Amino acid sequence: MSETPEPLRARAEIDLGALRANVRALRARVAPGTQVMAVVKADAYGHGAVPCAREALAAGASWLGTALPQEALALRAAGLDAPLLCWLWTPGDPWREAIEADIDVSVSGRWALDEVVAAARAAGRPARVHLKADTGLGRNGCQPADWPDLVGAALKAQAGGELRIVGLWSHFACADEPGHPSIAVQLAAFRTMVGQAEAAGAEPEVRHIANSPATLTLPETHFDLVRTGIAMYGISPGPELGTPADFGLRPVMRLSAALALVKQAPAGHGVSYGHHYVTEHPTTLGLVPVGYADGVPRNASGRGPVLAGGKVRTVAGRVAMDQFVVDLHGDTPAPGERAVLFGPGDDGEPTAEDWARAADTIAYEIVTRVGSRVPRVHKNASAEAGRTGEA
Ligand SMILES: *Cc1c(COP(=O)(O)O)cnc(C)c1O
Repeated sequence: MSETPEPLRARAEIDLGALRANVRALRARVAPGTQVMAVVKADAYGHGAVPCAREALAAGASWLGTALPQEALALRAAGLDAPLLCWLWTPGDPWREAIEADIDVSVSGRWALDEVVAAARAAGRPARVHLKADTGLGRNGCQPADWPDLVGAALKAQAGGELRIVGLWSHFACADEPGHPSIAVQLAAFRTMVGQAEAAGAEPEVRHIANSPATLTLPETHFDLVRTGIAMYGISPGPELGTPADFGLRPVMRLSAALALVKQAPAGHGVSYGHHYVTEHPTTLGLVPVGYADGVPRNASGRGPVLAGGKVRTVAGRVAMDQFVVDLHGDTPAPGERAVLFGPGDDGEPTAEDWARAADTIAYEIVTRVGSRVPRVHKNASAEAGRTGEA
């Protein structure tokens, strides 16, 4: 078997074996009757939607979830036929294509219900609809005051054969903050709104509200289905909750780049735009050929950690569009040697959480923003998922 040469400048290795183990760990946290949805929006948080969806299903997830209809349609086009929910709709979106592709759609308000009904008529088959309640997040979802009207209109359309109410659902605001009072308030509101819809005649297959933090720490929120994104990629939903290892999770992505230059520089030398770093002593500088166009946050200038030449270094000066510099303090790794920005952490490399701290953001953003210029190299694909190499 011939090995495909690995991309050298930069690559994001995706350990699909770790992803499968994470899905199994999440399944073990929910009751046997509770299903797991693999959330693969935003190209699986930067990890590659199609291979991650395949592997998650092979490891026991039974639903897929995306934000955009285009993301859901792309999964269907790749041959994935598991139950699939897509929740972020804009007027004029491809409802009919979604219905024809057997994609479940989310409805939070009357405009969406009207477009679904029209699309179902055009498609000549009922839409599978999840009605979304705003139980307190204050983002998408139907407010309690408008819920009876939305439910009533959906039931009328169901009676007319235009749709089937498959799900009742909501989303948490603060599930990653243990003990936050809004959690209990939202849970109670969800029970009330589900109760109202069921009393009015809805018979949903699935009721769901839990994201990764709720799946990991709030079993009373699991209902029929949990929607897990970040945990599946081996990242803790929040430093306050614990480390990935505390939950039996392992980071899936490892981002590295080849040192493009290693050179001597004198003391007092400014480094990178603005000269925000100046060498203290004669030293060696290493050039890392990834920058903010590749998703390295410019906000981590002077702070981001990198394993290079056997030690963790700090970005020296500004992160530029395509590159940044590390001070190697006299060490002379060979050009081409790999610098690791983040990974699981067991070879001494930093983690995505470390970068999140350095950039004042969350690890979700660190992995999701890795740019399209960085090739994803998928490793450890499973036979069940029908993959033999990279995707
Ligand atoms: C992104 C998203 C999820 C997954 O959240 P994680 O915290 O990554 O598990 C679940 N539900 C909705 C509605 C989302 O937008």
